[in-house]
Amino acid sequence: MRIVVLTGGIGGARFLLGVRAHARAIGAEVTAVVNVGDDVRMHGLQICPDLDSVMYTLGGAADPERGWGRVGETWVVRDELAKYGVEPSWFGLGDKDTATHLVRTTMLNAGYPLSAVTAALCERWQPGITMLPATDDRLETHVVADVEGERKAIHFQEWWVRYRGDVPTHRFVFVGAESAKPAAGVLDAVAGADIVLVAPSNPVVSIAPVLAVPQLKEAVTSGPAPIVGVSPIIGGAPVRGMADRCLATLEVEVSAAGVGRMYGPRAEGGLLDGWLVDESDAGAQVPGVTTRAVPLWMTDEQATARMVAAALELGGVK
Ligand code: GDP
Ligand code: CA
Repeated sequence: MRIVVLTGGIGGARFLLGVRAHARAIGAEVTAVVNVGDDVRMHGLQICPDLDSVMYTLGGAADPERGWGRVGETWVVRDELAKYGVEPSWFGLGDKDTATHLVRTTMLNAGYPLSAVTAALCERWQPGITMLPATDDRLETHVVADVEGERKAIHFQEWWVRYRGDVPTHRFVFVGAESAKPAAGVLDAVAGADIVLVAPSNPVVSIAPVLAVPQLKEAVTSGPAPIVGVSPIIGGAPVRGMADRCLATLEVEVSAAGVGRMYGPRAEGGLLDGWLVDESDAGAQVPGVTTRAVPLWMTDEQATARMVAAALELGGVK
């Protein structure tokens, strides 16, 4: 069996630990199609937060407390940059992490596409799944917000890390998405999939930018594989992160049903065939989509693998 997962960073990476565990148990292959909307160039380095969260988590090297970056990280480079007074000072680049960005940027500058660079980085980390960026082209999430008395579009990282999403926010724009093509390997993976899972990632700034690549969305939604999503919202709140702020901007109800309805039923131009919600949200109704309630707390790999088994069952594959 072949499983394709659309995913963001930290939440998606935890989900993928469970997908990998379940896939090993049943002898399935896994391909993650990862959001690149958070990607940003800083201090001359190309940084891919979601790809790195997935890679480090599956490679066993993520910092479990912070949730992002490397365990045992040191911050000499960041402190030295601060002493030069260079901006952006609000973005902390770890030393170990910096090595990843140096390798990536060097390869990109030499002309390799991001998908090839990711494959090269994964030779070290051996994530046990195939990791693909959604696109090899430039696609950046920008946020139109009122910042210091002025309405402007800022990079998602600035909105998220610098302002904690705590500024009047009007909309999200996926710069470059319209002309972006799916990365090498993405269309083949989707065409060969037995099921497509939508990770319990932030629907607005992790999953939406993946699906903003026109041919990628078309391939997923017109393909034969069932599409099953997993809710990132439990009991009316995101488990962590700022999905509530993002959803509020779109005037979407912060609930499992609200996100399910936002994705919408595939039969009506939406995304989903099935929608997995937490047991506490068992009453959630999404017209046109089959919902099922199971425990959705990703407390450990086994609990997450059970979620994945339920998602496959909901999709009618086992
Ligand atoms: P990011 O790119 O690093 O922000 O990570 P993602 O977008 O992949 O995931 C963030 C989402 O994961 C948040 O909206 C959380 O609500 C969700 N999440 C985190 N932990 C859990 C969990 O244990 N269960 C569920 N269902 N969702 C979770
Ligand atoms: Ca992200």
